Amino acid sequence: MEEVGTGLLDRLDAMQRVAASVHGGPMLIVAGPGTGKTRTLTHRIAYLCRELDVAPQDCLAITFTRRAADELRHRLKDLLGDPADEVTVTTFHSLGLALLRQHPQRSGLVDGFAVADDVQREQTRAEAGDDDVRYRTMLRGRNLVDLDELVSLPVATLNADADLAADARARWPWIFVDEYQDVDADQYALLRLLCPPSGNLYAIGDPDQAIYSFRGADVEYFLRFGHDFTDARQVRLTRNYRSSAPIVAAAAQAIGPWSLVRDRRMDPARLDPEAPLIGRYAAATAADEAEFVARAVDELVGGLSHRSFDAGRVDARAVAPDAVSFGDIAVLYRTDAQAAAIVSALARANIPVQKRSHDRLRDRAGVSALIRELRLASGGGPLPERLQSVGRELARRCAMPTLDGVSAAAVTAEQVWSAVDLLLPLARRRRDDLAGLLTDVATGAEVDALDPRAEAVTLLTLHAAKGLEWPVVFLVGCEDGLLPLRMPGDEPSEGLVAEERRLFFVGITRARNQLYVSHAAQRFRFGAERQTRPSPFLDAIDSGLFNRLDDAQPRAPRDRQLRMF
Ligand code: ATP
Ligand code: MG
Repeated sequence: MEEVGTGLLDRLDAMQRVAASVHGGPMLIVAGPGTGKTRTLTHRIAYLCRELDVAPQDCLAITFTRRAADELRHRLKDLLGDPADEVTVTTFHSLGLALLRQHPQRSGLVDGFAVADDVQREQTRAEAGDDDVRYRTMLRGRNLVDLDELVSLPVATLNADADLAADARARWPWIFVDEYQDVDADQYALLRLLCPPSGNLYAIGDPDQAIYSFRGADVEYFLRFGHDFTDARQVRLTRNYRSSAPIVAAAAQAIGPWSLVRDRRMDPARLDPEAPLIGRYAAATAADEAEFVARAVDELVGGLSHRSFDAGRVDARAVAPDAVSFGDIAVLYRTDAQAAAIVSALARANIPVQKRSHDRLRDRAGVSALIRELRLASGGGPLPERLQSVGRELARRCAMPTLDGVSAAAVTAEQVWSAVDLLLPLARRRRDDLAGLLTDVATGAEVDALDPRAEAVTLLTLHAAKGLEWPVVFLVGCEDGLLPLRMPGDEPSEGLVAEERRLFFVGITRARNQLYVSHAAQRFRFGAERQTRPSPFLDAIDSGLFNRLDDAQPRAPRDRQLRMF
């Protein structure tokens, strides 16, 4: 825990300190990637509790993923110690669930209701036909809620019940929302119900990282914060602490005149003159691109093992502090389909990987069947062991020639094992809290099951990478048709292209020290090998910021990356 008293905000710069220490009222922090938004948020809560005697239980911090909530709680605990446990740190979905659990009968449910899993959902859908009102009534009759209702149902209940709404509004006098640019209509309605127009709502975000409109998010809520909340104040953070100067410059050019923030600024706080340029590789095919990634990872991490071996030391970082390990590296891509080639190239090179998407956990093959079995199995022993033994049994049944209803829901034994792998980090976090694990699975995304400490290269969709950072990032598939994404015969609208550009911006800004971008001249898509062009988004970046890794030119000696090729 940090020193008590003064010094709490010493680790913030001047503007972050202003943002962390303002008094109450509605407050919007507009800040680009890597400017310390999440860091400022945790310090703000710690400052209020420690210096202004705000009770930790009066604070509600909302994030978009379970993983982000865990990270926030962890950082808060470092700053505040045990009182951090009293702060409610949650996702919108878990918050909705908690509100429903307080008074289930007011929403047409009874105690012990559950979030419908995919089999229950499909069965009810099939019985209800196209009629959405019946569907919902049938769910209620079965004491179930749909995931999509976790926020809208409490909103409807609070809107219909003034006393309940007054209670809910009094519950958390201090509300904090990270990634506010991605709130949707229901989440916004819930915030309006929980917080009066002049209340202590602390919203933090970056409109240029608004990438979830396909799920109903609307950046307009961010842009009109000043109209919605009385006397709202605004603080901007512009110093990027995350990325090297060439990466910050490339990111600034990539968003450039398309930025949704007037007079956007991004100043690199890190000014290392030795910082490598952005590696750019033009591959012939997707397989060639995957080989490039595998070779580069091998070379980057190979340096680590050789150096540690030569020095006869176990802790390679003590010998070479800038050394790279597998866990320091991420490969990011626009569509999940791109991962297969990368996974197999890395597997051939014996490089460990963990792959996650932004899809809902419950939609992943095998997960629902596994959870159902886990629910049915009698308790005893910690959750990770129970999960593995249930998985073993289910996989054994999947391998049998006669499929029963349960194993039919998980198609193959392999899917069961990959579902077990996916859920194990969540089970470890929850220890023996089965109800907690069920909530995580019902409401979470695959990326929630990311293990940040795993000694493996992380493979993620760009959507799932939001808010995260790695020393080394490969942004693959920078091609027209993937970035921006385009379906055959379908020209994306201007709004969609703008969002794709923001996604590209999010990808670039995940990298701390080294960024590689790559594109293939030919890729298998929509059932055929197709010729492709580099992404038009690359054109916005000054060619002097790139280090071409695919030509035969002599390498600039200052650039360590070039050695590899
Ligand atoms: P994103 O938009 O991607 O979510 P963010 O604005 O939330 O980014 P953080 O994740 O809080 O940024 O911070 C980015 C990195 O910069 C982290 O590694 C953080 O520790 C570091 N950082 C932030 N502020 C400072 C500071 N004042 N001094 C040193 N490092 C800092
Ligand atoms: Mg953040």
